[in-house]
This record gives sequence, C-alpha cells and structure tokens, in this order.
Amino acid sequence: MSATEHGSVAERVVAWQSTHGRNHLPWQQTRDPYRVWLSEIMLQQTQVATVLDYYARFLARFPDVRALAQAGQDEVMGLWSGLGYYTRARNLHRCAQQVVAEHGGVFPDTAAVLATLPGIGRSTAGAIAAFCFSERVPILDANVRRVLTRLLGFDKDLASAGNERLLWEEAQALLPRKNLHAAMPRYTQGLMDLGASVCTPKMPRCGQCPLASGCAASRAGDAERYPVKTRRLVRRSESWQLLVLRNPGGRVWLQRRPAAGIWAGMHCVPVFADGASLMGCVASLGDASRISCNELQPFLHVLTHRDLHLHPVLVAGDIAERPTEDGGWFGADEWHSIGLPAPIRKLLDSTQAQLW
Ligand code: SF4
Repeated sequence: MSATEHGSVAERVVAWQSTHGRNHLPWQQTRDPYRVWLSEIMLQQTQVATVLDYYARFLARFPDVRALAQAGQDEVMGLWSGLGYYTRARNLHRCAQQVVAEHGGVFPDTAAVLATLPGIGRSTAGAIAAFCFSERVPILDANVRRVLTRLLGFDKDLASAGNERLLWEEAQALLPRKNLHAAMPRYTQGLMDLGASVCTPKMPRCGQCPLASGCAASRAGDAERYPVKTRRLVRRSESWQLLVLRNPGGRVWLQRRPAAGIWAGMHCVPVFADGASLMGCVASLGDASRISCNELQPFLHVLTHRDLHLHPVLVAGDIAERPTEDGGWFGADEWHSIGLPAPIRKLLDSTQAQLW
C-alpha cells in the first residue's frame, strides 16, 4: 500500500461510516463511559440484536456505575442470565466496584488506565477511549483484525505475540490524524461496521467496500485466508450428572459453583462426574422408600471450547438430610432472579410440571 493510500484509509472509513455505518444504536448516542463500557462488554461474543434488550434492562436497574457497584452479585448475574460467557458479568461487577473504590466513581479517560480494570482488554479499552474521549488509540477486535489483515495483506501468524504486536503497530499507524474529536469515534465504529457487514469472514463484499482500491487481499482474491492464526483451540467433551432435587415443600436444591471453571460462582443444581457418585448422594438423603428417582432426557450444551453432555436425574420426596454441605432450597419464584446458567434455568422450567 502506498503512503498516499495509507493516509487516506482513515478518511475513507470515516466518510463511509457516516453514510453506511450504524449510527442509531442506543450506546452511540452518548459519550458516557459507563454506558459505552457496558455496551462494549455485552457486545463481546454477542450479536447487537440480543444486546439491545439486555442493555436497556441493565441501565434501567443500574443507571450508573455506583448503582452497579452496590448491587449484589446474584442480582447482576440474574440480569445477565442468558447472555452467556458469565465471566464477563463477574468482571463487569468487579470493574464497577473498582471504578468506585479506586477512581471515585469516574471512569479513567485513557486506554492505558482503562486496560488495568477487570474485564477490559486492550481492544475494549481502546474502544472506550476512542468513543468517549477521542483518544488516538486503535482497537483490534475480531472484526477489525479481519479488515486490517486483509487490507494490509498481513499474513504473519497471529498465534505469535510478536506478530500480534506488529499488527497493533500497523493499526496505530492507520489512525486518523486530523479532527480527532469527531474522527476517532467514527473511524473506530467504521472499522467495526465494515467487519460486521462488508468484510465478512466468508465472501466479503469488496464491491461495496471503501477500502477496495488499496486492499491487498481483494487485489489478490484471497481474502478468506486472513487473518492467519495457526493455533487451533482443542474442543473437549465432558459428561455431567445433574441432581435435580425437590423437597416436600416443592423447592429445588441449588448450590454455588466453584469460583473458577464453568459457570464459576453461579447457582446450579449439584453436579456429579458419574452416575455412581450421584446415586451415592441420593442414597444418603433418607428413607429410600419415601424418595422417587427418575432419569430425565439427557441434552447437549455447547460452550466455546467444550461440549457438555448433561444427564439430569429428578429426585423428589421426603428428604431428611442436606444433600451437599453448601447450598439451599430455592422456589421457582427465586431461580429467575439469581444467576442461573441458561441451560439449568431451562431445565428447571421444563421440569416444573414434574416438580410441582
Ligand atoms: Fe475486506 Fe474486501 Fe474491503 Fe479488503 S476490499 S477490506 S477484503 S471487504
């Protein structure tokens, strides 16, 4: 790419964004870092259409960072329930508390300091700083990474931290140089929009792209080979036995998941690695003649790097003992307001007729 083409990338993205990009999303109508941060965290791994409802509900309940910081973790997880990737919700809550405790309730105004907060990586920090403070910093989320590697013909393996650093430097060099107050938010949004709607993973629409004339991948006709990243995540598979336990009062036993791992810190029915362990627990609950035990339909839940094969067993009756050391009995009116993983909530909802 020539120096002239290099210099005009920002101008073309800014001009394209103002006429073809997304300009009416609720979080684009503000420079309030709390609202922008909330949207950026929700938009990680989640489609805009899904985020819209959650964003509105969160803001209605937590209108500012202090309200979120003061909330209980269960309420935050409950409002997040269904969005998935629950580490984001835990970090969201921790981040709000840190902004209040260490920054007087005011979000830092530079990407460098924003990136020190829980759950805010370099790209998210760049987005908040560009949108709210017009700081001249790049972002490199998955969409932008795809646009820039194609544009530049950047075919180095991004599995290497050194190559990743080089791409950040390239991204920095392409940033707008004039009129930063208006240009930085629009350029940042423009790259995101291009990646989402034009420079798509399969069959990019180069004919509609403002960068086509200087794009190395478009010229070579090999856009789909970018970005290059050799390390592939290995998917794993696990089998969990779920104990859905109902007491005579019609409540279900839930316990908190460990602080690390799948569904960390959320409420869940007791999980066992195998059927024998689950039945061992059932045998310890009281008089077997007063307890019924039914296997429910197993189902698959797909996580980012893992397939969970879930085997629920519904146990009901006169339960004399606590099934696990920690945990408690919860009614249907309660499990919608605490942080339950979506598949567990669905399981409890679907078995409600059998439970009550
Ligand atoms: Fe992507 Fe094509 Fe635009 Fe290049 S010209 S950035 S490959 S859409």
